[in-house]
Order: sequence, then structure tokens, then C-alpha cells
Amino acid sequence: LPKKHSAADTTIFTVMSALAQQYNAINLSQGFPDFPIDAQLGNYLSEAAQNGWNQYAPMPGLPMLRNAVAKNFQQRHGIDINPDTEITITPGATYAIYTAFTAILQPGDEVIVLEPAYDSYIPNIEMNGGKVVPVALKAPTFEVDWDLVKAAITAKTKAIIVNTPHNPTGATWNKEDWDALAEIVRNTDIIILSDEVYEQLVYDGKPHYSVLQHPELRERSFALYSFGKVFHNTGWKIGYCIAPPAFTQAFRKLHQFVAFSINTPAQYALAAYLENGIQEPVNIMLQSKRDYFLGLMKETPFTILQPAGGSYFQLASYENISDLPDTEFAQWLTKEYGVATIPVSAFYSNRKDDKLIRFCFAKKEETLSSAVEKLAEIG
Ligand code: PMP
Ligand code: GLN
Repeated sequence: LPKKHSAADTTIFTVMSALAQQYNAINLSQGFPDFPIDAQLGNYLSEAAQNGWNQYAPMPGLPMLRNAVAKNFQQRHGIDINPDTEITITPGATYAIYTAFTAILQPGDEVIVLEPAYDSYIPNIEMNGGKVVPVALKAPTFEVDWDLVKAAITAKTKAIIVNTPHNPTGATWNKEDWDALAEIVRNTDIIILSDEVYEQLVYDGKPHYSVLQHPELRERSFALYSFGKVFHNTGWKIGYCIAPPAFTQAFRKLHQFVAFSINTPAQYALAAYLENGIQEPVNIMLQSKRDYFLGLMKETPFTILQPAGGSYFQLASYENISDLPDTEFAQWLTKEYGVATIPVSAFYSNRKDDKLIRFCFAKKEETLSSAVEKLAEIG
């Protein structure tokens, strides 16, 4: 069968979670919480199923969920979004990113990807006939080198995909980053894909800046979100795409023939929970997990690059421990010390090896302390 992309045959998240299971290791690799969802959210789900919300939802998503998302954005950011013409509910953000690429790309179009990058972007671009143009972020802060981005633009550049808060580095963008991007794409037709799945996980009192808050960029952007990161239910696989009406129309033209519509009872539950249920902002809980994890890691030979400003990931260097390439090191750590992580080279097209691994800290405190106890044994 034809080879549709140049990325790994099996995604690193599947590889490392399987290895963790095989060696009975603590899994700080794939990003998902190990603590429960709010019982109220679960109650809404069973209420939906029992009250007859069991048939196909409308193609763009349940109106009550799209309205709740629009209201939530208005409350949190003061942004007006039309729920009928600008919001589409999707089976997760991964699907939304893929569908946005499918809507815009023609064979030979170039897409700029800032690396390290979430592992679905590059195969998604290639599966749609696009050509990936990688641009490296500046280690160790992983800020954008705007001169490099500018130099990467050609007549064939169709889009740039950006991600804040960033997986895997935890870096976040400020307003100046968006201004710099706006300046670079002004007078071009370049489309922005803004992956904001960790928008509510920003720490140290800083705000999240969304592409939707930048009127000039918003007109040319798909903004992609995932409920899984906000309500700790990654397994529900529900997200959404916010885009201007013309982009949304193009997106739905594809979506109607790929997924058509999304799990109805889960949409009902999310809408009810957005309207009635939310208690403590999720970043407070996750920041305290980050801080707890960083405190514990001082007892280990790992070097923390800089505390994650957002997301639920922390990068660390193992250069004081081993000379192994990062993929082998992550396997060794899983097998010998019982802690699974993600090698950061998996987030690069050219498999760049900086001796960095990624830890997921969206875990119960006892999970984090058991894991770090094992890491502290490394001689
Ligand atoms: N983008 C980034 C940066 C992610 O880390 C993830 C991880 N889940 C996704 C997109 C995909 O989200 P979903 O699970 O909703 O498909
Ligand atoms: N987003 C999660 C991560 O980065 C995992 C998603 C997946 O397994 N595809 O770990």
C-alpha cells in the first residue's frame, strides 16, 4: 500500500505507553491525567443517555454545546464568536487539525512547522500532499526565531501551524509573539492553524493569548481546542474548531463526509457542565502539580531546563546521567527504573537528539512521588 507520510510507523505515545505497561512502569509518557473527572460531569453523561440524547447530533455540533462554548469564550476573553457560523464540534483536536489541513492544502503547498512539534502535524500535512518546512525553536527557552520564520516563507507557503501553550516544551506565547506573526504574514494569503488545546493550562498568573484575540490574525486562522485537557477526560475525544465563516464552511464540507457528527450524550454532558458545573480553574490544580513535581525532581540527577509555563509537560535533560540517544534512554529508563517518559527527538522531523525527555505531570501526587523516588535512585 502507498506510504502516506514520512513519520514513525507507530506514534511515540503508543510505543511508550505500551512499554510502560509491559514493564509495569509508572507512565509519565503519554499526556493524560490519572485522576478522576468531576462526578458531576459523569452524572450529566448518564443523565443524557437516560433522557434520550442518543441519536445523531446535528452535523456542526449540538447547538447547546456551541452556544456554551461561545458564552465561555465571551466570559473568559471578552471575544464574540458566532456559534452557528464559526464553531464546529469535532472528535478531538487531532481530527480538527487534520480536517483544517485537508480543507486548505493542495499538493505541493508548503506548511511551516515550528519544531519540536506535536507529532501529528507532519504526517497530517504529508497525508494531504503538503510539504513540511521545519523551523527550529530557540532552545532552551523555545521562543520563536522570527527571522528564521520569515526566511522560510516562499511563494508556496500556504500555512503556519503554531501551538501555545506548547507541547512538548511548556513554552507560552505573549502578545508580542502574535504581533510578530501578524507582521510576517501581512500582505500574504498565509493561513494560521493555532493549536490551543492547553489554553486553560497557563501558570504563574500569566494569561493565555489566543489567536482569536488578535483581530488581524483571527480573519485568517483556524483555532483548535480539546475538552479533554480542560475536564481531564481525554478519552472522550471531543474538541472543536473556531474559524471565520468561510473557513468553517470549507471545514464542514469535509467534516460532514468524514465523521458527520459527534457523540451526542457526551456533547450534552459537556454543554451542561460548561453552563453549571465548573468550579476551580484547572490551571491552579495543575500548577500545584507542576510545582510539586519540580520540587521532587531536585533530588534526581536530571536538569530541569525551565519550569513549564503551560501545558502538562515538563522537559528535563539527562546529560548528567547518560550518553545514550534519547529514544534508547527513554526505553532504558522504563525498563531499568520503571518510569516511562517521551524522548523529545520524536517531536522533530530530523530526529534531533538534544538529550531531553518529556515528563507528564498531570498525575496524582502519589504517582509523581513514586516515580521520582525511582528516578532518585539513579546513580
Ligand atoms: N494538540 C496538542 C498540542 C496535543 O498535545 C494534543 C494531545 N492530546 C492534541 C492536539 C490532540 O487532542 P485530542 O486528544 O483532542 O485529539
Ligand atoms: N497529546 C498527548 C501527548 O502529547 C497524547 C495524545 C496521543 O496519545 N496521541 O502526550
